[in-house]
Formats: sequence, C-alpha cells, structure tokens
Amino acid sequence: MPAQTYLFGCLSDNFGVLLHDPETGATASIDAPEAEPVEAALKKTGWRLTDILVTHHHGDHTAGIGELKAHHHCRVTAPRREAQRIAHVDETVAEGETVKVGSLQGRVLDTPGHTAGHISFVFPADRLAFVGDTLFSIGCGRVIEGDPQMMWNSLLKLRGLPDDTRFYCGHEYTEANIRFAKSIEPNNKALAARAEEVAKLRAASKPTIPATIGAEKAANPFLRADNSELAKSLGLGGQPAWKVFAEIRERKNRF
Ligand code: ZN
Ligand code: FE
Repeated sequence: MPAQTYLFGCLSDNFGVLLHDPETGATASIDAPEAEPVEAALKKTGWRLTDILVTHHHGDHTAGIGELKAHHHCRVTAPRREAQRIAHVDETVAEGETVKVGSLQGRVLDTPGHTAGHISFVFPADRLAFVGDTLFSIGCGRVIEGDPQMMWNSLLKLRGLPDDTRFYCGHEYTEANIRFAKSIEPNNKALAARAEEVAKLRAASKPTIPATIGAEKAANPFLRADNSELAKSLGLGGQPAWKVFAEIRERKNRF
C-alpha cells in the first residue's frame, strides 16, 4: 500500500510532516520542531507515532523530540555523525543504510553541508524524499558546518533522484527563494512558471511543497550550478560547478 503523508506548519516557518504506513499503522514524524503541532497532526489523522526520523541536530528540527518520545515511546533515528548532539536517540544511521517505518523501506543519504552530519531519507517505492535543510524549493540550506563543495555534492545526490520524486524540506522559504532566483536567472521559463504557481498557493495560504525533483532541476539555481550559460552569466564560465554554486550561495547570503 502506498505511503501517506500529512504536512503542517511548525514554529514560524518550519514544516512538520508525518509519514504513515497504512499497512501496519506505523507513523514517523520527520524531525520534531516542537511537540504540540505534531500532537495536533496525530490527533487530526488518527495516526500513532512510532518513529521520529531526524535529519540534523539544529534545535528547530529536534526541540520536540523529548516530549514526543515521553508520550509515545517512539523510536528516534538520527544521523550517526551528529547523534551525540541530539538527545533521546535510539538508532543512528548513515549513507546506504536502511530505515523502516512499519513496512515502508527508506534509504539514508549523507547530505552534509548545512551541518556536517546532515542526512536525508528517501523512500524509493513511494518516490518520497525528506531532505531537511539541504534542499529547499528554489533554494538550499545555508552552508554552516560544511563547505560549498560538500554542499554541492549533497545537492547532486538529491538531484540524481528520479524526476517524479516528491521532496519535503524543513522550511517554507519558497517565495523569498524565488525573488532571489529571479535575480540569478531572470529568463528562466521554468522559474517563472514556478513563481506563478507559488504566488497562487501562498495567496490561498497553502504550502508550496512537496515539489518534484524534476521540476526543481529546471527552476532552482542551486541545482543548476553546472549549467554553462548560468556560469557564464555570473562571470564564471569554465569554472568547476561547485565554485559556481559557492558564488550563488554567497550572493543569496547577501541578497
Ligand atoms: Zn537547520
Ligand atoms: Fe531548520
């Protein structure tokens, strides 16, 4: 049976999302920005929390873990490379390892850069990916603990997922990301189309995710650093893609 998801807002601009296996009733919260909205989402769906899958150690992704675990006795799975910075961890995982949410089989990708041990969870059978603060729609996370080359390699891994993969990220930043992206690629038609779609969603107070990897590849400048036209337009023709990525990231930091 296909997985089900339930998306909701947390804190000021974080997303919470539940992943549910209808076959076994198992349900994972991807990250836990705060307990209360996760509890409300569980009540609304009638799902039982069995797992928390943690993408990285930042407080806006982990602050709710303790309270949720105390209440639901759920299993907490976190990135091995930063597990010592996250409280209440039961299992640690890294690239290539498997996570199970009931009968749903997930695969772990190391996607460092935003934090040094950041991971993403991919559920290939359902074409779902949970990417934390690595990839945002029309943007990407700040490179805080890693370096641009590391972050670019992480984004390449996510870009390599099948085009019809729907990805869930940690924050609703899409509108601001689009304003920046237009300054980088003013003539990108896919970006213009996405901007229109996002304006409609936001006007209706709807979330702008999930987005698909295929659509994102065409419109997100951070996934397009190896596009030679884009490199040229930034004065970086012939430079390695990660340097182009670093320049785009730097411009976004200053935007
Ligand atoms: Zn973060
Ligand atoms: Fe975050």
